[in-house]
Amino acid sequence: MGTLVMKFGGLSVGTPTALTQVLSIILHEREKWDKLLVVVSALEGVTDSLIEATRLAQITNRRGYRRIVATLRTRHLALIDHLPLGTTERKALQADVDRLLFDMLDRLQTIADNPTDELSPQVLDSVTGVGERLAARIVAALIRQNTVRAVAIATDTLVVTDDTFGNAVPDMAASCEQITHNLLPMLERRIVPVITGYIGATPDGQLTTLGRGGSDYTATIIGICAGADEVWLWTDVDGMMTTDPRDFENARAIPTMSYEEVGEMAYFGARVLHPRMVGPLQDARIPLRIKNVFKPQQPGTLISETN
Ligand code: ASP
Ligand code: MG
Repeated sequence: MGTLVMKFGGLSVGTPTALTQVLSIILHEREKWDKLLVVVSALEGVTDSLIEATRLAQITNRRGYRRIVATLRTRHLALIDHLPLGTTERKALQADVDRLLFDMLDRLQTIADNPTDELSPQVLDSVTGVGERLAARIVAALIRQNTVRAVAIATDTLVVTDDTFGNAVPDMAASCEQITHNLLPMLERRIVPVITGYIGATPDGQLTTLGRGGSDYTATIIGICAGADEVWLWTDVDGMMTTDPRDFENARAIPTMSYEEVGEMAYFGARVLHPRMVGPLQDARIPLRIKNVFKPQQPGTLISETN
């Protein structure tokens, strides 16, 4: 069977239990599809913490941002400790976490050394993508541990965007060129790329982000450029809901929807889909599925041309 892109959200990569589910889903689908690509977001709450840390750096609250970085380090290392990894893989991953967070601390120090009145979206984008880099490395290591080849890949070299920092617009032609050259050859070799959501870069290499919840959008971009047959978003709810399940206990998952209907009724757990992710999938006629990581047998919601 063709090419599948699966995106895993922050809740599904945040705990050892959820990650065990994620792993079994990946191993299972890899048997079924010729080519499998995985997109991940940061662990739940990490992006918020990174934004907060950058704010604190900007007002020179060194103690504040250092505390946040220390908490992030503890959280990621504790997660790694609880994963079924061999010693070599675990050590390499711990070193990766330390290096990524150390680099980020360095960046925060530079921000604190050069205080400005306002925190620019450009400065925020230079920090906040680290959550996705951490998550991608963890998921890739976990897959490799199961003797499947997998590589963590940061999208600053794949998703080419304009310089609308904080809500960047991808240049699809340029992105597809990068993806075709740098990512697709791996698929031929049956390697599973574990790709960072949310992150992009301008043609001259300045880091950008696609906006909050932007990993959904990354899945769209990757799906289109890789010529995917389907894009699946894995989350912790049963699918697209009739209403916001926080307000109504009897909110139900909708089995099938058209792309148009999504625009009107886009509740998806406690949030909505990234507003810019559906249009391009519709144009490319790539069906989108929303599924629950904890109930993989359930069909979830299928969004396609007709319902
Ligand atoms: N981690 C980013 C955010 O929280 C992107 C995403 O979750 O899709 O907005
Ligand atoms: Mg997130």
